[in-house]
Parts: sequence; structure tokens; C-alpha cells
Amino acid sequence: MKKIDFQKVIEWLSFALKCPVCGYKYNLDRTKIIDTKQEENNQATLLVHSDCAQCKSSVVFGISINGGEIFSVGMITDLTSHDTKKFSQKQPISSNDVLDVHRFLKKFDGNFVKAFTN
Ligand SMILES: [Zn+2]
Repeated sequence: MKKIDFQKVIEWLSFALKCPVCGYKYNLDRTKIIDTKQEENNQATLLVHSDCAQCKSSVVFGISINGGEIFSVGMITDLTSHDTKKFSQKQPISSNDVLDVHRFLKKFDGNFVKAFTN
């Protein structure tokens, strides 16, 4: 299996990727690869974070490469590239996590000092 050179993919994509907010063309130096995966059948996925030099918004792109087809989905985010990498390795929030927060907020009196000094 030939290894995909993901840096080359990003260099090529930087010609095509534009900011979904203002339409400004992304700079390669503001585009970082967060995660990559290559399957046995040469299908590959990338998670890319990009900051717009013009409007300062940040976007995470999920990019899927399957033979001659490339799909990308962009999502506006307030995460930095560092945060995106950090949270991509965390487990998803479970329904029990949501219930724990709900129970906490139900009896929370708004006193953060008391909540954090127990
Ligand atoms: Zn922009």
C-alpha cells in the first residue's frame, strides 16, 4: 500500500479551500493537519484546522479521499488548532455526562466560589 503524503494533499487543497465566512483563500501556513487516517483500500481521511487571515474565523475541515473523489465538510469553530488536536483525542460526551451536569445545575445556587471550594 502506497502511503499518502498528507502534506502534499494540503498543499494541493490550499488552492481550492476558501473561508466559508468571507470567501478569502486560505494561506497554507495557517492550515494545520490535526489527524489523518489511511485505510487498506487507500481511502483516506484528514481533519484540518484553518484560520482565515482576513476575517479571523476558524474552520475545521473533514476531508475524505476515495480514489479520484475528494469530499470536504467545513464547520466553523471557536477552537484553536491546539484545542482541536486536544479534543479530537477525547472521548465523546456521553448521555451520563449530560445527566450529571443537569443534576448539578438543578441544585446549583449560582455560587461558583462555594462550588469550587468544596
Ligand atoms: Zn474569512
